[in-house]
Amino acid sequence: MSNLDPENWDDYRQQAHALLDACIDRLASAREHPWQPLPEAVRASYALDGMARGEGALAVELAESVLPHGTGNTHPRFWGWVHGTGLASGVMAEMVAATMNANLGGRAHGAVEIERAVIEWTRGVMGFPEGASGVFVTGTSQATVIALASARVAVMPEVRARGQGAVPLTAYAGAGAHNAARKAMELLGMGHDALRLIPEGPQGMDLHALAQRIEADRDAGRQPFAVIGTAGSVDLGRFDDLNALADLARAQGLWLHIDGAFGAWTRLAGAPWRRLSDGIGRADSLACDFHKWMFVPYDCGLVLIRDEAAHRAAFAARPAYLAAQSAGLGGGEPWFCDYGVDLSRGNRALKAWSAISRAWG
Ligand SMILES: *Cc1c(COP(=O)(O)O)cnc(C)c1O
Repeated sequence: MSNLDPENWDDYRQQAHALLDACIDRLASAREHPWQPLPEAVRASYALDGMARGEGALAVELAESVLPHGTGNTHPRFWGWVHGTGLASGVMAEMVAATMNANLGGRAHGAVEIERAVIEWTRGVMGFPEGASGVFVTGTSQATVIALASARVAVMPEVRARGQGAVPLTAYAGAGAHNAARKAMELLGMGHDALRLIPEGPQGMDLHALAQRIEADRDAGRQPFAVIGTAGSVDLGRFDDLNALADLARAQGLWLHIDGAFGAWTRLAGAPWRRLSDGIGRADSLACDFHKWMFVPYDCGLVLIRDEAAHRAAFAARPAYLAAQSAGLGGGEPWFCDYGVDLSRGNRALKAWSAISRAWG
């Protein structure tokens, strides 16, 4: 073999067409395929143990040994609470994304503009102001880290250079808030004890208890910096009163982040569901997942940040090898690598764009 291309493009084409047919057959017949345990022999066949590998056509192995053994969530009777079912449009989008092999970290190319278009559409749906920024991420877990890191830099600009030290920052969330908030606090070095869990009623966080807790922390010399509201809790489907939370956050001078992993999409629903997320556009940051109630194939999450400058302040870093150019492939500012942890980024936005452009275009 003289290079990394298939030895014979005609053979590759034939295999790939057969595999695409197998994928479409699988999607079309999802009703006949509930989840099943992975047979031991199939599991054993996955091992990459040298000489045993590389036999036979890849397309056949993918179709026969890999394709049938998913999580069962593509079945139309899969009624997962938050887990999306995937969309046929995702197969087309992922095929094109793999072919383009674009790095969405930045630079001037079409894939970046697709991501911008989806962020712009979502910004409008959620009622965020023009100029708000966003970046696609794996999901709400990563989005929460990015949002809280931005919130912290907003109150502690020196944290990137010197770390948080002993400054006792505190954040607040309802007792039913997703574990992602806790993990984000741990990853950012604040520790999850600094995330105060506030008792909840049917209308979400008890705002009186929240105000009291903030006051008690201030009295004890701590520095409250963020409130995390929930639009659709993962266990009970609870929504905080987002307008009331936005009022409280503004009065207290706190950053309001909203976990809208699945529930943010009530913005697209009619009455009475839409009003559950009223006020969501007043947040400073929002996490939502296209892989949940938007049914886009995994993984596909998004973080929106109201103040682009705060977002950039938390993540922008451009060494010489990433210097921007005024024209050509090195142009295309702003670059998504300045909005999050990742420099190299895949094309998650294309599968979201493919879904939205045909459903809501
Ligand atoms: C799924 C979910 C998360 C975590 O999001 P990932 O996309 O799995 O990272 C956080 N909060 C809520 C409410 C969720 O449903």
